[in-house]
Amino acid sequence: MALDLHAQTLTQLAAGLERGDFSSVELTEALLARIETHEQALNAFITVTGDQALAAAKRADAARVAGAAGVLNGLPIAHKDIFCTRGVLTTCGSRMLENFVSPYDATVVERLAVAGAVVLGKTNMDEFAMGSSNETSYFGPVKNPWRLDCSPGGSSGGSAAAVAARLTPAATGTDTGGSIRQPAALTGTVGLKPTYGRVSRYGMIAFASSLDQAGIITRSSEDAALLLGVMAGFDERDSTSIEHPVADYTAALSGSLKGLRVGIVRQHFDEGLDEQCGAAVKEALAVLESQGAILTEVDMPNLDLSVPTYYVVAPAECSSNLSRFDGMRFGHRAENPEDLLDLYCRSRGEGFGAEVKRRIMTGTYVLSAGYYDAYYLKAQQVRHLIADDFHKAFAEVDVIAGPTSPTAAFRLGDKIDDPITMYLNDIYTIGANLAGLPGMSTPCGFVDGLPVGLHLVAPHWGEETLLRCGHNYEQLSSWHQACPEDFQ
Ligand code: GLN
Repeated sequence: MALDLHAQTLTQLAAGLERGDFSSVELTEALLARIETHEQALNAFITVTGDQALAAAKRADAARVAGAAGVLNGLPIAHKDIFCTRGVLTTCGSRMLENFVSPYDATVVERLAVAGAVVLGKTNMDEFAMGSSNETSYFGPVKNPWRLDCSPGGSSGGSAAAVAARLTPAATGTDTGGSIRQPAALTGTVGLKPTYGRVSRYGMIAFASSLDQAGIITRSSEDAALLLGVMAGFDERDSTSIEHPVADYTAALSGSLKGLRVGIVRQHFDEGLDEQCGAAVKEALAVLESQGAILTEVDMPNLDLSVPTYYVVAPAECSSNLSRFDGMRFGHRAENPEDLLDLYCRSRGEGFGAEVKRRIMTGTYVLSAGYYDAYYLKAQQVRHLIADDFHKAFAEVDVIAGPTSPTAAFRLGDKIDDPITMYLNDIYTIGANLAGLPGMSTPCGFVDGLPVGLHLVAPHWGEETLLRCGHNYEQLSSWHQACPEDFQ
């Protein structure tokens, strides 16, 4: 058996399993052992499902012998703890769901399982996916494998850290304003947020329904293509799922970049962007250009409004989505209530953390009579202007490229008491969510030993373009192959 199974990508592991170099049980045992060794330092998992994983691996090995192997047969994966998993704790990073064992599987979980994937566990995350640093998790912050006193980003920080530290070759994530792409950038991994409606949200605990989208964190675009092909597709159980043909994403990787029109947004390189991060991104753009891509500047006059717009729309939707967690219908229930009001108040007071409460209060305020027009309606109008900016830009270019995040990973504790600074982490990623567009981050360098991401956004259903672009770039660079020193 190869000793370095954890070092291999999903695609390499798939080939190894196929050749019979090792079994899924051997692979699963190796990764579970690795999780056991490193988990204490990272806190990337909320639940490790060792027994279930080994049982699934055994079934996968048997299926291979029987000639019934699915595309992902025997390949390990971890799920962000926002996806419902039958019979397994699903906490959403919150005390509110500390003891919630889901009676059903999310569609994403189900599809990956049908294809043969083996679930290693559920990853840590910001509470209800609200955050950019993983510090709002009830289960404590996740550490960045590149520097343990730094944040891995959020809210899919557990997934990103687990992939970066080679505890799993891939993990699911969700992205409402940047929660797949920003942690991918901060951990040197590849993060893909598909088009809104591309992947089913059934069984994915809702944060802001008009923005939420499921996606993946991997170590290469090739691996992302493999997983997206399984996850994507119409689901009648999700009313926002769209009937649109699923492309052969792996085949899409092989095209060249010759003639690809790449839009650069000037404001993305203005103040606010760390100078060294900017330099790394510019070098990556030069690499795309060397492959025949044509760089053009595009104007997006309303993009500066995306963070304030998001912080009206997302809290508004979250205040409505989270109303079900009241101790009666769902979630933590306070003990010995005096009356019904006391039960509601204390259950919600105890179950939710500070950031979630802040969002619920903001959301309730912007939706309240008298303020609805001034805030919520206005934000929806601005959202249209931002979507229009993208629409106009995509008349001239095929993809928009820039930085994923304004800085590399920051120290745990540095931003948590300053919500505005924290919110600005997603300044480059939020636009894609407001417009429902697919976006991706791939590693493009380091600043002081910490990874930096290149952000790509494509028109609706443009996942193939993103993956082709990412894959081409990854063939010419080795940033995505770098491994944090303590996790070789
Ligand atoms: N960081 C953003 C927020 O706190 C985005 C979160 C997300 O994409 N889930 O809301």
